[in-house]
Amino acid sequence: MAMTGPTPCSSMSNHTKERVTMTKVTLENFYSNLIAQHEEREMRQKKLEQMMEEEGLKDEEKRIRRSAHAQKETEFLRLKRTRLGLEDFESLKVIGRGAFGEVRLVQKKDTGHVYAMKILRKADMLEKEQVGHIRAERDILVEADSLWVVKMFYSFQDKLNLYLIMEFLPGGDMMTLLMKKDTLTEEETQFYIAETVLAIDSIHQLGFIHRDIKPDNLLLDSKGHVKLSDFGLCTGLKKAHRTEFYRNLNHSLPSDFTFQNMNSKRKAETWKRNRRQLAFSTVGTPDYIAPEVFMQTGYNKLCDWWSLGVIMYEMLIGYPPFCSETPQETYKKVMNWKETLTFPPEVPISDKAKDLILRFCCEWEHRIGASGVEEIKSNPFFEGVDWEHIRERPAAISIEIKSIDDTSNFDEFPESDILKPTVATSNHPETDYKNKDWVFINYTYKRFEGLTARGAIPSYMKGGK
Ligand code: ATP
Ligand code: MG
Repeated sequence: MAMTGPTPCSSMSNHTKERVTMTKVTLENFYSNLIAQHEEREMRQKKLEQMMEEEGLKDEEKRIRRSAHAQKETEFLRLKRTRLGLEDFESLKVIGRGAFGEVRLVQKKDTGHVYAMKILRKADMLEKEQVGHIRAERDILVEADSLWVVKMFYSFQDKLNLYLIMEFLPGGDMMTLLMKKDTLTEEETQFYIAETVLAIDSIHQLGFIHRDIKPDNLLLDSKGHVKLSDFGLCTGLKKAHRTEFYRNLNHSLPSDFTFQNMNSKRKAETWKRNRRQLAFSTVGTPDYIAPEVFMQTGYNKLCDWWSLGVIMYEMLIGYPPFCSETPQETYKKVMNWKETLTFPPEVPISDKAKDLILRFCCEWEHRIGASGVEEIKSNPFFEGVDWEHIRERPAAISIEIKSIDDTSNFDEFPESDILKPTVATSNHPETDYKNKDWVFINYTYKRFEGLTARGAIPSYMKGGK
């Protein structure tokens, strides 16, 4: 719900302006939350009625279901009031690191359920202007309720950090898988690209553009099926997405000459050696970003299909098509893709694969998918794919999981001190993040169904759905 009204005029002090904004945000959130909660409740009721209708229940059965549902709603309300916090979870292990925090495997103390907890340090986010980013991530994760997207269950905050509690995907991420293997076979590539096509299409259908499709954001569930994570960049604050970043740094470019002249084996080795570092940096990698995203002229959802083409190339060739020694060089190559998108003769791939890559990585006006996802699904490269049942069938590479908290598909990360308040505050003595806490308003979220499953292993942990 947008509120209109007088905008702070230029004669106001910054302090006053901030107070005005703060009040506006608080009010807006209060009312939109009330309305949203009411609407969600109505929707759940409608869904229940619809389901009972479809099942053809008798009146008496309906009455029992309705009363069970009402009880669930009451429990939900109560749980919404009880504040979850860090003390409700036991941290088991660091399983991932990103630019603005880290991801840990945690266990909820009362139920024993395991989750992935993403921790984002408030001070860092304010410093790096990532607030729009985190709000976007929260908003989208809440709305996307699909098999193809990582489920989020709770979020909460304390003085120092924001916490996102998500389903734990024990298969690890595609980046880690690609680091381990030289290349994937065409069959394996067909499987992962096909699943990712369905995943991307599912968020497009919700009206979202991901804009940051890359192997690090493709996670694998316990059966080896793909799920999308990371919607943080929908507002686009990461430097890799900003054209100015490359303009400013254009002068002191080191030459890419040595890299250009490497054979594909050496290129793949160099790429793999530097890859993880790139994933942790706040700059990010421009390797997967479509050229039109860098331009002022605008872009649409087709940019996600370009990124998929880059991933497909990397799976089959061993490194992405525009990889270079520096992000600036990569950016130049992306912009100049008509000359730079080439296939090394020493790595043979099928004509069908090559054709599809070139259908993904071309001007957006001519790109595959412009007329809808069916155009992609019927491409010859996907011949034989059972689009309807792909998620229920065995994955191309099966995942071995010994227990619900098995982390063998993740790299080792050293323990960090992100959860230790003393260290965190002494690092940022002058940051007034406490006074700015209102920018994180509305961050806390609890999921309806996630709160009712107790004791048993949630079905998503069994995977393969
Ligand atoms: P950004 O890409 O915006 O910089 P980030 O890199 O900080 O975000 P994520 O990409 O969400 O954070 O997570 C980092 C890594 O942690 C992932 O690449 C993955 O290996 C691991 N990870 C994230 N979420 C999960 C999850 N739900 N289950 C298992 N592992 C996860
Ligand atoms: Mg990431």
